Amino acid sequence: MIKIDVRRKAFGEEEVLRDIRFEMDVGETVAILGPSGIGKSTLLRLIAGIDPAFDGEITRPEKIAMVFQEPVLLPWRSVVENLTLVHPDLGTQAALSALERTGIVDKAGLFPGQLSLGQQRRLALARAFAGRPELLVMDEPYVSLDPTTAEEMLALTEALIAETGPAVILVTHSEAEAHRLARRRLRLAGKPATMVKEFAAGSASASWEGHHDRA
Ligand code: ADP
Ligand code: MG
Repeated sequence: MIKIDVRRKAFGEEEVLRDIRFEMDVGETVAILGPSGIGKSTLLRLIAGIDPAFDGEITRPEKIAMVFQEPVLLPWRSVVENLTLVHPDLGTQAALSALERTGIVDKAGLFPGQLSLGQQRRLALARAFAGRPELLVMDEPYVSLDPTTAEEMLALTEALIAETGPAVILVTHSEAEAHRLARRRLRLAGKPATMVKEFAAGSASASWEGHHDRA
């Protein structure tokens, strides 16, 4: 069970987030939508535990993986070592299968800098799922990809989520992405940003209040 209760988050005088509350079960997928600058990445950093400076309380599982907009990779380690060093329990064979699964096993011996952005993101995805996270947090993982690559990445993420079963929080400003990957969608609006709840299509049985905007 994941419980988010952010009463207030400010940077100095600038109050960014106010009264953001929601709960998730393992296996649930939630998209957080909202315009640029509203506070989505800030909220995600609180949820992931990277930024502990806020008023409120967050209950999260132990095994968390993050996928950032710009993949954070070890530049002087090979692609396969980017998996085995981050996940010491993962053997080389398992790391190679993870690379196979994300379509970059032929790049195993290269450095991350020798990969295209799309391939770097595939590596970040392989690394995130290789740890079998209970919570996967993704911050606009498909921006600035061409439509074909973006579609491939989305399909791959969908399949990996289905296989691995983590709770997923996806931050995006794309409605289409949110519809595709997430069962619930939450929107941030206002200054400081607070939360507007929404239903995803087909989730009429969800137990929290909201409205059907695409039933
Ligand atoms: P989004 O991800 O929705 O585009 P962010 O969470 O990145 O928005 O930013 C929300 C607001 O918080 C912005 O006004 C931004 O300038 C501010 N902000 C984010 N991080 C910091 C920081 N480390 N220090 C000061 N202000 C910040
Ligand atoms: Mg952001």
